[in-house]
Amino acid sequence: MFNFIKNLIAPKKCYSCGELWHFLCPECLKKLDNHKAYCYLCKKPSFEYQIHKECKTNDFYLDKIIVLTHYKNKIIEILIKHSKYYWKKDILEDFADYLSELFLKNCDEKISDYIIVSRPMYRFKKLFRWYNQADILATFISKNTGIVHYNNLVIKTKYTKSQSRLSRQDRLKNEINSFSINKKYISIIKWKKVIIVDDVVSSASTLNEIAKLLKNYKTSENIALVIASD
Ligand SMILES: [Zn+2]
Ligand SMILES: [Zn+2]
Repeated sequence: MFNFIKNLIAPKKCYSCGELWHFLCPECLKKLDNHKAYCYLCKKPSFEYQIHKECKTNDFYLDKIIVLTHYKNKIIEILIKHSKYYWKKDILEDFADYLSELFLKNCDEKISDYIIVSRPMYRFKKLFRWYNQADILATFISKNTGIVHYNNLVIKTKYTKSQSRLSRQDRLKNEINSFSINKKYISIIKWKKVIIVDDVVSSASTLNEIAKLLKNYKTSENIALVIASD
């Protein structure tokens, strides 16, 4: 009801073409990306976004990285910025719809094998931002797909500098051992396929750190599901 009234007063408009009811309409998204599955590491085609065995190093723990679109596109960059800093959570709802659809096209049929976690934010950072955009995305994706979301399964235990301000080498070091698993969920994650939700992926070092931790607790598959890569 609240959304209905809000849509009447200030309807969503596509940032790209101005059409009503979406912040990014399906047609404009289609123009940005063809959504052919590829391996994130070599960018060559792969089945359901799987990382090729030959591309994986021993310290890489993600089995799939599913990305909706590119951050290089100015409109995507603005949309993501607005969703973070201007409290426009509805943008995340639109992206979550597209991500849910893309995920369901690239997963196994048995949905009960999956759980959703979100890339956590350090407590104090959350105080300044009011919310963690990865959590909001994950909540919407969970609602769309019926896959359970555990929003405090992965915990950020250490404050680290923002990844976007660091060089690739420093990024790799920055996040090491800065996450832990909430002990009460340990029995749940065993043999599960875990979907780690985030808004932007670059070197994938943060997502890989989380995946490494999850693998320690015997998850069967680690999948990253992300709005945009840079
Ligand atoms: Zn449009
Ligand atoms: Zn590859």
